[in-house]
Amino acid sequence: MSGAEFRSIWPEVAAVQDAVIGRAGSRCECRGVCGRNHAKGGGRCDREHVLGRPLFVVPADPEIRIDTAAAARAPKRAMCGPCWELAHKIASRQAAADRMAEWPDLFTVDLDPADEAAADDLAVADHGAADDLGGAAA
Ligand SMILES: [Zn+2]
Ligand SMILES: [Zn+2]
Repeated sequence: MSGAEFRSIWPEVAAVQDAVIGRAGSRCECRGVCGRNHAKGGGRCDREHVLGRPLFVVPADPEIRIDTAAAARAPKRAMCGPCWELAHKIASRQAAADRMAEWPDLFTVDLDPADEAAADDLAVADHGAADDLGGAAA
């Protein structure tokens, strides 16, 4: 789909894109969230909104995927393709690490049976697993 076609079908989307890219001065708004220091641009990416290498209007939070409903509601910023891709990769990895951190018991259970506290933890875990199986069978 060409840019003109896109605009005619989604004028309101095009208006948001124009506003965000205009606010950004037609320059990528990445200030290192992609993991690069952008020293050449004084700490900010120096890629501009040009034909064939456009900037993308993306959620300001790189953890949000572009193709989700959350992305439509999220605050936007203008970023070049490489910066967005790298930033999203970093954010996704971080989000996965955060989720693991929320469940430390699953990864730090002490299996030494002489440790009473660990044995109690295992008993609780076994009970939970049994409940899960019962639910699946019902
Ligand atoms: Zn960039
Ligand atoms: Zn960048």
